Amino acid sequence: MRISVASFSHETLTFCPEISTLEAWEAGGIRYGPDALDTEGEGEGYITGYKEAAEGQEGVEFVGILRTGWPKLTGYGSWITTEAFDVICGRIVSRLEEQVNGEGVDGVLLALHGAMAVTNVPRPEAEIVRRVRKTVGDVPIMVTFDLHANEDVEMAHAADAVFILKTYPHLDAHEIGYTAAMCMIETVRGNFSPEMAFRKPRIASASVFQASGFHPMKKVYDRCREWEARGVYCASVAPGFAYADVPDVGASVFVVADGDRALAEEAAQDLHDLMWSLREELTKRLPRAKEGVAEVVKMVEAGKKPVVIAYHDDRLGDGTHVLRELLDQGAENWCSTGVADPEVLKMLSENHVVGDRVTVKIGGWLDPISGDPVEVSGRIEYLGSADWVETGPMGRGAEMHVDLVASLDLGRNRHVVVTERLSAPMSADRLKALGLDVDGFDIVEIKSRVHHKAWWDTWSAVDYPVDPPGLGPADLSILEYRHLPWGVYPIGTKYRKNAE
Ligand SMILES: [Zn+2]
Repeated sequence: MRISVASFSHETLTFCPEISTLEAWEAGGIRYGPDALDTEGEGEGYITGYKEAAEGQEGVEFVGILRTGWPKLTGYGSWITTEAFDVICGRIVSRLEEQVNGEGVDGVLLALHGAMAVTNVPRPEAEIVRRVRKTVGDVPIMVTFDLHANEDVEMAHAADAVFILKTYPHLDAHEIGYTAAMCMIETVRGNFSPEMAFRKPRIASASVFQASGFHPMKKVYDRCREWEARGVYCASVAPGFAYADVPDVGASVFVVADGDRALAEEAAQDLHDLMWSLREELTKRLPRAKEGVAEVVKMVEAGKKPVVIAYHDDRLGDGTHVLRELLDQGAENWCSTGVADPEVLKMLSENHVVGDRVTVKIGGWLDPISGDPVEVSGRIEYLGSADWVETGPMGRGAEMHVDLVASLDLGRNRHVVVTERLSAPMSADRLKALGLDVDGFDIVEIKSRVHHKAWWDTWSAVDYPVDPPGLGPADLSILEYRHLPWGVYPIGTKYRKNAE
């Protein structure tokens, strides 16, 4: 059997200023044919899971079609242009057509993300599946998603089976890839008959509340596993991605069972009801930067340390709210792990060397919501490219490289890392590559919601999220949505009216 594999994946933050053009996608890298299946030096992912499912199986061949990287921009990419979407879909379709007219296609595995937002295409992932369907006809099409997927009934109608991550930090992409590919292989052999049930709990929640190891999502994923123990093949709940202003924003439930429609429906309804019962816990309030940093300083003084300040709002990379408070409130022994400022980096690399003392204004240039630029004076302790291998749980084994990065020593063991684009250390490896003594810090500020927890929770005594202004806030009411469904909790018109 020949299973075609394609991956076209994006989490679009539609409130960001930089649109995701075809040029940005090309710059991020698009691979074709057998190259699309080459996972050397990447760590584990959906595609390594697909490949493991095929190992030792008679006559199973995966055919690489296309795999995109991430569009190359400073911050999160905003709206994908219609052109970029059509051109990349077109390349998938034309390569599939060649397969259909050549050796044949018995099934298609699509590794998508689910939080893609495209100008003029309201439900892009469902549209991808429909275009693929038109080309390959009546063969199984199965899809893997990140748990930040925003999907609705159109996806349920388009695909034969949907499989979604159950971990945030995302550590099970390999496992979900394996689960999807096994389902595909057995379905093509006629040993599995996929029945899928779908529900749409109307909840939009900030990513910072969606960690799978903690309440409330832990309860949801435990329940998924209970249903799987009771005979469901795969039960998936995506809490969704609230920062894409799209009509299918928010949570979704997909349950796949082997031939048992009733069981799939029962599980899906139960998971829907459970999510709805947890809606208030998925939409809480968090401290702003000033009060948050004050609280952290108190904790450190009381010996409750080290502390990670998760500065989850900043999706542009140039945010300065927490850095400003760390400086103003006189904190010591800290590291601000990433202020994106390519202009300052360029200036430093052209005019300075390690050891120079400099005064520079960093951050706060891409959008007013990021805060004002912050003036810092210190000694350049690192300047240049950096390479490291991730040893933490997120992307373990991945070979990492950045072209240009700087670290400034501001005195009193205060350090700030200046980066080219939005970045967050998923473990201490990135900071160690710059020569930073991570264990000497009381406070580490990281521009991350949840992914950092996979490693940093093993290091810190407290993980403390704060909610300054930014484009990925906990308080969704500060964002100006235009395409929200009326009844989505707590930000749809229905609830806003009630709150007024
Ligand atoms: Zn995600």
